[in-house]
Amino acid sequence: MAKAKFFLLNLGCPKNLVDSEKLSLELMKLGLSPSTDPQNSDVVIVNTCGFIDSARKMTEYYVRKLRNQSEGKLIVMGCYPKRVGLENVNLPYDYVAGTIEETLEITENIFKKRLRKTKQNSEIKKNIEIQRIKRINTLSRFSAYLKISEGCSRLCTFCSIPKIRGPLQSLGEKQILEEANYLAEAGVKELVIISQDTTMWNVDKGGKREDIFRLLDKISEIEGIEWIRLFYIYPDRFSISLINYISQNPKIVRYIEMPFQHIDDQILANMARATREKLAYEILENIRTKIPEMAIRTELIVGFPGETDEKFQKLMKFVEEFKFDWLGVFEFSPEKGTPSYKMWEQNQVPKKTVKERKKELMKLWNEIFKRKQSEKIGKIFKCIYESENTYRAYFQAPEIDGTVKIWQRQKNSGQNGFSRSFEYIKIEKVDGENLLGEFVNV
Ligand code: SF4
Repeated sequence: MAKAKFFLLNLGCPKNLVDSEKLSLELMKLGLSPSTDPQNSDVVIVNTCGFIDSARKMTEYYVRKLRNQSEGKLIVMGCYPKRVGLENVNLPYDYVAGTIEETLEITENIFKKRLRKTKQNSEIKKNIEIQRIKRINTLSRFSAYLKISEGCSRLCTFCSIPKIRGPLQSLGEKQILEEANYLAEAGVKELVIISQDTTMWNVDKGGKREDIFRLLDKISEIEGIEWIRLFYIYPDRFSISLINYISQNPKIVRYIEMPFQHIDDQILANMARATREKLAYEILENIRTKIPEMAIRTELIVGFPGETDEKFQKLMKFVEEFKFDWLGVFEFSPEKGTPSYKMWEQNQVPKKTVKERKKELMKLWNEIFKRKQSEKIGKIFKCIYESENTYRAYFQAPEIDGTVKIWQRQKNSGQNGFSRSFEYIKIEKVDGENLLGEFVNV
């Protein structure tokens, strides 16, 4: 009897992707086999996203689409059901689940008889091999996400993530290092550190903020790991110590994802953010002086309740002044059950104005970005292999920033035609958010 096939669609953030990778591995250990075709799958699982309205709409679109595409059992899991309530999921599904564990239990029950049969006549050896796998990495050949904690204990007034993912739960140092070592042995060179709140790692376990440095030191000692990229760095006073640490550790990529969300003190106070304008400038000036080549990605929210045009102009000035390398601008999404929802009910910024502000801020940033891109022409960067003829330089994170494409179709053969993990590439041309270049020997 053929193995039951599963199709898993991952939506949302890198943390969800790591969860989907873990779920896929557990499903394979259960005796199912992965499929890339929902039409030809016995079970279709959607690991959903649900933290803001637009994300929920995306989830609803894909669930309906897969329902029409597949006869298989449809399981809707993850953040969407957790955000709206498992009993309130008004979508065409067979089963709904919050966690990986619940999804596994449901799947095992659906295919109980079949799994028992396949297990009986399964290729025991093949099964043992699967049992040995510690982690599936679907990001790219030399890069992987490494999740160090789940949830968040900060209470930003606009954010529903603590309601969805719970308070901060740090993974143990031993578990993180085991996974990092396993990935390094599998050939991974770049680890992208993810969580909701990276510099709070281990604090929920009674540890100190500085524990993150010990963890990063140990990850830096792992043979084969050359790049450690930091995401979700909350801009508070501690991040100044982090900048000092990064300046001392050459394995930490000169790239930081630090969501400032806003720059006006009144708005930041109403967001219950620990950052204030003065501190934000201090952090960024620290970065600019200590690590001038550091690439900075940030996220900003426009249209937060009470955002006057004068407060919005401060955001424009902030972006103009610090010329961020990458910028994500979100329209404020009133999230029921969050404190900002009440503020929104009393004092909304008109939708039209919110959209105009997003447009204006992105227009300003795009001008800055174009200038930064063209300044890279003629420069040589160490780049990591992503896929055929596609690489990323240190200032480009996976999946969200541009790439460096090999222009002249040069062959860069390592042994046996396999691409080397890193190459030096001279930038020749700009192509939107991507760069075109050619291999050089340095
Ligand atoms: S730190 Fe991030 S995840 Fe945590 S509450 Fe604030 S916005 Fe949400």
